[in-house]
Amino acid sequence: MEEYRKNQELELEISALGSSGEGIGRTREGFTVFVKDALPGDRVRARLMKVKKQYAFGRLMEIISPSPDRVEAPCPVARACGGCQLQALSYEKQLAYKENKVRQDLIRISGIENPPIEPIIGMASPWRYRNKAQFPVGRDREGRVVAGFYAGRTHSIIPQRDCLLGAEVNRRILDIVLGYMEQYGIAPYDEASGSGLVRHILIRCGFSTGEIMVCLVVNGDRLPEEGMLAERLREIPGMTAVLLNTNRERTNVILGHTVRTIWGKGYITDMIGGVSFQISPLSFYQVNPRQTEKLYGQALEYAGLTGQETVWDVYCGIGTISLFLARRARQVWGVEVVPQAIEDARRNAALNGIENVEFFVGKAEEVLPEQYEKSGLRADVVVVDPPRKGCDAAVLETILRVRPDRIVYISCDPATMARDVKVLGNGGYSVEKVRCVDMFGMTGHVETCVLLGRK
Ligand code: SAH
Repeated sequence: MEEYRKNQELELEISALGSSGEGIGRTREGFTVFVKDALPGDRVRARLMKVKKQYAFGRLMEIISPSPDRVEAPCPVARACGGCQLQALSYEKQLAYKENKVRQDLIRISGIENPPIEPIIGMASPWRYRNKAQFPVGRDREGRVVAGFYAGRTHSIIPQRDCLLGAEVNRRILDIVLGYMEQYGIAPYDEASGSGLVRHILIRCGFSTGEIMVCLVVNGDRLPEEGMLAERLREIPGMTAVLLNTNRERTNVILGHTVRTIWGKGYITDMIGGVSFQISPLSFYQVNPRQTEKLYGQALEYAGLTGQETVWDVYCGIGTISLFLARRARQVWGVEVVPQAIEDARRNAALNGIENVEFFVGKAEEVLPEQYEKSGLRADVVVVDPPRKGCDAAVLETILRVRPDRIVYISCDPATMARDVKVLGNGGYSVEKVRCVDMFGMTGHVETCVLLGRK
């Protein structure tokens, strides 16, 4: 094989999308090059930046001939920001590529010849779907206070008050907060020196309730003239909580541990599928509630509940799926490793008057085997919604011992899902249905729901 070296330029045909939305091209000898911002169907010139044995990362230098699926990216800072990788690909093609990625992984990794995939559920509109935004605050070269996004993999801020994935109201909120900072001479936090006050502006919106939370992350306990800030923010319809989070650490972690209410409540409420959730700045909550409802609705359909079943919801987070399922099952048990998430789950169960759920804190790979030894652990249906690395081997083993009628696998990473599906396949389960749901339009992420039944 030809030797490739750093800074060498190659002409490539981009033929696929990688897992972070980057274009993948192969040389005639089968050497793989990942090129950010290149799309399938493009012919490009790329400069090799990092060369490994089998593959390299290239920088897009020129699009020699554009893919027919290219569109104009509507956001002026799309490429510099890096938050969206696929804005220049038509939405229809984004969906097709995501579904195909899942199909290829099920064929290649799980060894399923013809995966039974139902059509992907896309968004009605792939814009303004995020209910949460975190804007870093800093200064531009002229010393003006700015908020925006970190330029891909750096900590320099690209000023941008209107991200097209976020709520429209974000812009008005940022105008008010930055205007207040300018007026009262409040300094943004400076990472280099550790001085200054305002680090981030966190905004959360309840899409179904219209409630809005603004939380300033501050290198201190208070801000000058907080009352003025609250007074201005309160004019925005739906404003429910104006909060201050203290973070004095020199860290990349955005939020500190303590939150104080400047005005209003300490949380907002939102609903998914008729279930209410209380959301504080520190709680986890799905960022695309409309598509979450579709994904979990799909999981509910695959679970095939009649009201009589016992169900385990493994990796249950704040219990969104557990509470969704509980209304149609006899008993649901959830397990999750983060104690605060379980606190939220229990509070949300109480808030909704749902009594047939019980939550366990701990690692799924410990809790499930323990419960199995102790009580035999019955389950008609097991739902798993693991993090990107997929299910722990001990979790899969225990599920196979429990032998539920159905397993519903919800996944945010098709490759690890396909690996786990193979294990479950060897253990006597076959894939009956698969459905992808697009929760993160303009990005390379895809969520999948898989129904496995006993062979
Ligand atoms: N269905 C959940 C989200 C699941 S995301 C909801 O709607 O809220 C995956 C979850 O798995 C996260 O909450 C993460 O904290 C949890 N997790 C990660 N590793 C785990 C482990 N080893 N055992 C149990 N839970 C784990």
